[in-house]
Amino acid sequence: MRIFSTLVFPRRQQQQIFNLRQFQTTTILRKPISIAPIQIPMDAEQSLRQSLSEKSSSVEAQGNAVRALKASRAAKPEIDAAIEQLNKLKLEKSAVEKELQSIISSSGNGSLNREAFRKAVVNTLERRLFYIPSFKIYSGVAGLFDYGPPGCAIKSNVLSFWRQHFILEENMLEVDCPCVTPEVVLKASGHVDKFTDLMVKDEKTGTCYRADHLLKDYCTDKLEKDLTISAENAAELKDVLAVMEDFSPEQLGAKIKEYGITAPDTKNPLSDPYPFNLMFQTSIGPSGLIPGYMRPETAQGIFVNFKDLYYYNGKKLPFAAAQIGQAFRNEISPRQGLLRVREFTLAEIEHFVDPENKSHPKFSDVAKLEFLMFPREEQMSGQSAKKLCLGEAVSKGTVNNETLGYFIGRVYLFLTRLGIDKERLRFRQHLANEMAHYAADCWDAEIESSYGWIECVGIADRSAYDLRAHSDKSGVPLVAEEKFAEPKEVEKLVITPVKKELGLAFKGNQKNVVESLEAMNEEEAMEMKASLESKGEVEFYVCTLNKTVSIKKNMVSISKEKKKEHQRVFTPSVIEPSFGIGRIIYCLYEHCFSTRPSKAGDEQLNLFRFPPLVAPIKCTVFPLVQNQQFEEAAKVISKELASVGISHKIDITGTSIGKRYARTDELGVPFAITVDSDASVTIRERDSKDQVRVSLKEAASVVSSVSEGKMTWQDVWASFPHHSSAAADE
Ligand code: AMP
Repeated sequence: MRIFSTLVFPRRQQQQIFNLRQFQTTTILRKPISIAPIQIPMDAEQSLRQSLSEKSSSVEAQGNAVRALKASRAAKPEIDAAIEQLNKLKLEKSAVEKELQSIISSSGNGSLNREAFRKAVVNTLERRLFYIPSFKIYSGVAGLFDYGPPGCAIKSNVLSFWRQHFILEENMLEVDCPCVTPEVVLKASGHVDKFTDLMVKDEKTGTCYRADHLLKDYCTDKLEKDLTISAENAAELKDVLAVMEDFSPEQLGAKIKEYGITAPDTKNPLSDPYPFNLMFQTSIGPSGLIPGYMRPETAQGIFVNFKDLYYYNGKKLPFAAAQIGQAFRNEISPRQGLLRVREFTLAEIEHFVDPENKSHPKFSDVAKLEFLMFPREEQMSGQSAKKLCLGEAVSKGTVNNETLGYFIGRVYLFLTRLGIDKERLRFRQHLANEMAHYAADCWDAEIESSYGWIECVGIADRSAYDLRAHSDKSGVPLVAEEKFAEPKEVEKLVITPVKKELGLAFKGNQKNVVESLEAMNEEEAMEMKASLESKGEVEFYVCTLNKTVSIKKNMVSISKEKKKEHQRVFTPSVIEPSFGIGRIIYCLYEHCFSTRPSKAGDEQLNLFRFPPLVAPIKCTVFPLVQNQQFEEAAKVISKELASVGISHKIDITGTSIGKRYARTDELGVPFAITVDSDASVTIRERDSKDQVRVSLKEAASVVSSVSEGKMTWQDVWASFPHHSSAAADE
């Protein structure tokens, strides 16, 4: 009989347990940012690759024929005819090349378009100080970024909406725990042993790279840029991209060698892949004797406080605790700008629920929502994400339970209200091999950006794993109780190790054997009882000793007894939505970015179409021309806006009004008040460029109502004299 003691796996790597078992390795890979699967119609691409390789052979053969004719001093007409044929073949080859290139570019892999778009967004973001590479004057450090003034304002708006949408609306218990965490906590959670990525080193310079990223780059580059690879090679590369998440270090190393992948900067050979723990290590206190780490996630702070929070909540389930805070991960070679960084803000919810009742009283509020979902069956059969009704997805069992479904719906509402394009947002279910053995179901909210589909929110039903891990390590039971109205008679398994006999037999190992015996589940215990009764002795694996011992009948008594119980004690399940705030904000930048021609049509002007909810500044106030009367009026409006808490900016420079609008459009400011008389002003809406005229007195309250969503722009348009003023703008 084989008994497992509690195995400890880190939260993010538990999903790899399947792989771990499959490949018999102790290294657990973190999930890379998922990139959109290549959705080129296979037949078209394959047949074009095939045809291109045939055309290339024909061109080469004809080139050889021409050279042979010239060498043999053949007649001129004969040589000319051969050259004409060669040119014809070259033209045909280049036509196929173009077709293949265009099919690759138009299939979601148009890396040139995507890169050009990203460049435009990132240039604007950096120029307008949405973010700044940290420590820039000292050349910066990869993976660390500052938020500049508009970036800070957006982050604060996103977080305050998060608090309102989740903490306030769901009555969650917010906590704020330290970033510095003692080792024992992260040992219990499994991070100390397993929170790793596979790394390779440049053998000469020692520069480090993430092994899976190098392999992924190689495959994607070949597929996108090398038109000469055969259809079979292309299919193999796609296969590698699809399964590389499952590769063991050995398999990853073998592929890197097979493809001749070298260090990108120097072309030097690379070491074999080996696991690198991503946590920043530190020590607590001057003695250096208390080892600690910067937390890689905020969730552990909630789990270790479960007992107190449960009491605070009047010992009632379900309840949720939430935390917003910094997380630290020493990413091996962070690229992808704000998407993979070494310090980032996480907003996490741990919703504790009775494992026997995962219904949600407010599920009907979200049941009718329809959005892109990507269940595992569709992924396995090569289909794409489909619009599904959330209620149906739960009732058909595609989503495991109502509470998980409820959070999926709430996350959808949160992201779309922020301004994420609903057509570029999908909920992708984890494949069976991505999930931990104990997890009931996991879905990622993925947002499409120029980097592909990016996991921005993970929503997982993690069952009782985390609370059990901390109960085991700390010895403090992290459990909930259900009091019965009437006492219930239950049959209970009773395992009583006979310590005297075990002590005589196993001496110093007695404690380990006792613990393993007591940890048996019902099936294992009853199997042991039967064997002891029939054979008097049984072989028993004690995993903390990593050996099998012989248990005799006099060493343990196993029975089932009837007992009256007044309550049920159980470890709650946890459903966890975990939000990467920086990733959401970056995707929001891309989804809201757009350009439009200036009035003269000679340049493209950038704008961010942020919804007022997240816009860093809600309104600008401009006197139309520099004069004291208008400036005074602008100051009065500014004071009123400040008093109702509307972020705004006064611009009294003499620059043309068109230029001032363009400057604020680039910051995504949704409204502009232009003072052009001492009685009334215009309010201009950024996206339509339409204007309404309101009295000076009303200006601040109208902008405040429309910024806070109490009125729509359509309401404002209908209520005041207006004109569609695109022409007056620039
Ligand atoms: P995980 O615990 O790995 O599932 O991560 C939780 C969330 O944190 C993910 O959904 C991401 O949005 C975000 N995240 C993870 N790693 C990083 C990183 N290095 N930089 C920025 N965001 C991250």
